[in-house]
Amino acid sequence: QAKEDGRHVYRIYDDSMSKASAAKLSMMADLREALVNKEFQVYYQPQIDLASRQVCGAEALIRWQRRDGSFVPPDEFIPLAESSGIIADIGCWVLREACRDCAGWRQAGFTHMSVSVNLSYVQFRDGELECRVRKALDRVGLPAQALELELTESMLIGESPHIQKQIAAIRAMGVNFAIDDFGTGYSNLGYLRRFSATRLKIDKSFVMDMGGAAKDKPLVRAIIQMCDSLGLEAVAEGVEDNETVRELLALGCHQGQGYLWSKAITNDAFLCWLSEYGKQDLSDPFDYAQL
Ligand code: C2E
Ligand code: MG
Ligand code: MG
Ligand code: MG
Repeated sequence: QAKEDGRHVYRIYDDSMSKASAAKLSMMADLREALVNKEFQVYYQPQIDLASRQVCGAEALIRWQRRDGSFVPPDEFIPLAESSGIIADIGCWVLREACRDCAGWRQAGFTHMSVSVNLSYVQFRDGELECRVRKALDRVGLPAQALELELTESMLIGESPHIQKQIAAIRAMGVNFAIDDFGTGYSNLGYLRRFSATRLKIDKSFVMDMGGAAKDKPLVRAIIQMCDSLGLEAVAEGVEDNETVRELLALGCHQGQGYLWSKAITNDAFLCWLSEYGKQDLSDPFDYAQL
């Protein structure tokens, strides 16, 4: 009886899962081709220093446009690229593109610009990350201080000495680190003592609901206070309106990123955006994004 049940359960599982896994397998195969076929592009989203309203940097966000023209969201393909390991190659490519484009912004006169690149835990696996970062900077002459690497809480909680050693070596180069999606991982905050980040990004789920009835504003306030006492700069993700900027400023948040200023756009569009943004009058107290 038990055996029969077991088999029955197995069969249902197998039937319902097979379609999903077939789709995943075919997407995994497509991912390898996509890199060769140049179907990926790196887009940039500006980061604004809230008090001065100056653009201080941009986050590099990968886009995959398939040959039929459709875009696959990163939240769909990044996990697959991680499980197949191809993210190591994709991530290395993003790093080189981002360093080259940031060097370009600085040469175009935006000399204070930095670029933030998302890292996957898989990129720490072969121990070559330090060397890859060094090369990506050197080939375009970008100072290490202009590069920031974003890591999520879950990558830091594991406390793997293998990862920690590599982070320390890259940090020693002068590259900055940020904690991404803060507040969505686990509640063990011990890693904050050991990990030498310079910035902490408050997850957009808290920022987007700040004006709502939920208890998101007290949470954002607490996170910013924690950043202050740890000497970290707080970056709010998902800033979509002026009201949120005013609240963030009142709470002492340092920087913001969100659709209020711009979504992620191609490098060409980003360069245009930078010069347009620089031309505007930044003194209107009610409008933080006149573009
Ligand atoms: P993330 O690193 O937390 O990036 C922020 C995400 O929030 C981006 O989604 C961005 O487009 C979106 N966003 C920014 N401002 C707003 C806003 O005002 N409102 C709303 N609703 N959303 C906003 P995206 O580009 O779809 O990327 C999703 C995630 O995929 C990223 O989250 C990151 O975890 C991952 N990802 C993207 N590019 C890369 C990459 O090159 N390497 C790796 N490993 N992961 C990447
Ligand atoms: Mg990020
Ligand atoms: Mg994030
Ligand atoms: Mg995210």
